[in-house]
Formats: sequence, structure tokens, C-alpha cells
Amino acid sequence: MPNVLLLHGGAGSDNSYTDALNRYANSTSSKISKDPVDFVVESVRLMEDDPSFNAGTGSVKRIDGSIQMDAAVMSNRKIGSVSAIERVRNPVLVAREVMLQTPHVMITGDGAIKFARSVGFGDYDPTTERTETIWKKMVDFFNGKEVELPERYSQYYRYAKIFGFPQQKDTVGAVARVGNKFAAAVSTGGSSPMMRGRVGDSPLPGAGLYAGENGAIVATGIGEEIIKRMMCYDIYTKIGTKPLQDILKEKVEEFGDILVGVIAVSKDEYASYSNNSMATGVSTWP
Ligand code: ASP
Repeated sequence: MPNVLLLHGGAGSDNSYTDALNRYANSTSSKISKDPVDFVVESVRLMEDDPSFNAGTGSVKRIDGSIQMDAAVMSNRKIGSVSAIERVRNPVLVAREVMLQTPHVMITGDGAIKFARSVGFGDYDPTTERTETIWKKMVDFFNGKEVELPERYSQYYRYAKIFGFPQQKDTVGAVARVGNKFAAAVSTGGSSPMMRGRVGDSPLPGAGLYAGENGAIVATGIGEEIIKRMMCYDIYTKIGTKPLQDILKEKVEEFGDILVGVIAVSKDEYASYSNNSMATGVSTWP
């Protein structure tokens, strides 16, 4: 199988993102490198800079109005991760520096911000007009005012169903195989509505992403539910037992109607599966 870079634009994301994702995949894969980490990090960086996505610029606000982001990168036993990081432009680049420059796997909260500044990432406000508007609607929602939510916010997960909160989608992720090496990267503003300090699946190896010598996997959807099922590691352990597409489908079906999606690449296959719409983009090269 040729080398492959596969991207997703979030469980529940609109298929109108497909062109952009294919463009990001193609422009990344035209850069010559033998390290799959370079491909997944660069493509996630491009998606973080695209305000359509809930990652980096355009990340969703928490209930208190703050933006805290999660991101991670993983390759054969190398992991870098940041959680609840604030005021940086590209969380995925900070996650890679955690992997390269520290003895740690994850740095969180104010420690992550301090670390980012110490390695040269400047102050940056990822707020956009869109996320500001969504947040104001959420506040109105909490205050019991009548607001009209667009259709794409009309899905709710368990506790959100009970309280009637609107939900944000459009997290981003990437998996790659280059030669016989694999990597995965992910970045998100989270799954709103969220309390400040909430951390989802995305920065947690085994839950939101996994990469080893047999493949790479990235999940998207309701983080709490993905963590409970250790989604990505569970899929990884099944690689080779049946077609990759079947493994993904079976795992996604365990979630019932809880929003979830996944992308994966193994030595011979790549696949994606979601129980809702999920935009993907792909590039393959010799
Ligand atoms: N999994 C992310 C989270 O729960 C959100 C998403 O993928 O849409 O933080």
C-alpha cells in the first residue's frame, strides 16, 4: 500500500469540509519527510488555523466563556500531549514540543501555558466571531431565553440531553503511515457544553488516539464516552483480526446513538467510520 495521510474534521462535521481536508492532506503530503509525525502535526496545524474547525483558532468556549484546548501527537512509544491549554495558536505544536523537549507525556493547564511560552509560543487569542456567537447563545440557553439553534447544534449527548445544552463539533485529527512507521495527532477545543478544566479523550493516549508498530487511530465525538471505552487502544488490539473497516464499524456501533467517529491506518488498509456525518480527506503517495 502507498504511504497515506488521512484526516477527519470531527464526528458530526459537515461534508462540505471534504474539499478543504483533501487540500490540507495533499499540501502536507507534498512535503518530503520520512517521519509520519511531520505529516500528522503539519496537517493538524493547518486545520487548527482554519477557523471552521473546533481546534486552535475557532475553538469552542467553555460555559464560563474561556477557551481551553486539548491536543496530542503519538508515534511508536513517543507521546506528547497538552490539555486545558489556553492562549496559544497551535496546541498541536506545543504537544510535539512536550514530546521532543520534556521527559513527560502530558502537561496541563497553567503549566502547559508556561511551558509553551518557555519554548517560544506567544500569546494568542483563538476566539472567533462564530465561537463568541455560539457561546452567547449557550448563555442565553442557560438563562432560559428563547434562542434558535442551528440544526447542527440540535444533537445532545447524555447529560446534555437532560439539561438541553447545545453541542459543538468539528474537532480535527490525522493518522499517517510513512514506510512502516505510523503516527496520530489530534486537536480540539472540546465537546461543549463543558466546565472549565474538563479534559476529553483527545489528549489521552489509548482513548483519543493511539499509534504503535501496527497502525494509528484517532477518535472524535463525545470524549467522556470514548474514554470509558478506551476506543483507540481497543481498536489497535484488533488490527489484523478482520478488515479494518469492520473493526471500526463494530466499535462505533457499541456507542449506540452517542456521537462518535474514528479514522485509522494499518500496514495494508486505511478506513474511517462514524455514526453521523464526518468529513474526511486523504492523500496517498508512493
Ligand atoms: N472528542 C472531543 C472531546 O470530547 C470532541 C470531538 O471530537 O468532537 O473533547
